[in-house]
Amino acid sequence: MSKCGLVILDRDGVINKDCAQFVRSPEQWQPIAGSLDAIVRLRRGGYRVAVATNQSGIARGLLDIAGLEAIHAQMQAMLRECGCELDLIVFCPHGPDEGCACRKPRPGLLQQISTGLRMSLQGVPFVGDSPRDLEAARAAGCTPVLVRTGNGLRTERDGADQGAMTFDDLAAFADAWLESPAGALRGSPAGALRGSPAGALRGSSARVLRG
Ligand SMILES: [Mg+2]
Ligand SMILES: [Zn+2]
Repeated sequence: MSKCGLVILDRDGVINKDCAQFVRSPEQWQPIAGSLDAIVRLRRGGYRVAVATNQSGIARGLLDIAGLEAIHAQMQAMLRECGCELDLIVFCPHGPDEGCACRKPRPGLLQQISTGLRMSLQGVPFVGDSPRDLEAARAAGCTPVLVRTGNGLRTERDGADQGAMTFDDLAAFADAWLESPAGALRGSPAGALRGSPAGALRGSSARVLRG
């Protein structure tokens, strides 16, 4: 079992642009700038990369399993053009009222990845843009990571980041994580905002500017 050779990503709002009416076709699946390259770099850095995504659009009748698989086939094809593939994609097709074990914030999808890849989740970063991603990460023993793409800015502004380390986007996370996972944990901008010396310095310079 590898302790840190795995990175798990939410899909919508992390890899691709989120869509209020759900991503229902391959044409509607648009990568966020730099996200595919970030996955390539993580794979080349020796990490396996898996995706855990809630897809209640299936329960809502907005797309079917074949449609979802077509979207994922396109995502993998775009990654193959860049020289890599995702190791595993797991999804929850259920609605919010079905009480399933897999819909985030429950940890079921993350546990499916652990079983499927036979890797421990302990300390593994799970990168998401919504509070339920961070909750699922904690429930599964992963390290919650927030990105400011998709719902991420709103999550941060609402104070729902739950102290997770926070990055502007998946590319920024990948840079920090590949340089040093421990450094990424220490250097979380969220930590800086919480009263560290760096945060204090920013506060004082802002006062100077206003004065
Ligand atoms: Mg999301
Ligand atoms: Zn489910």
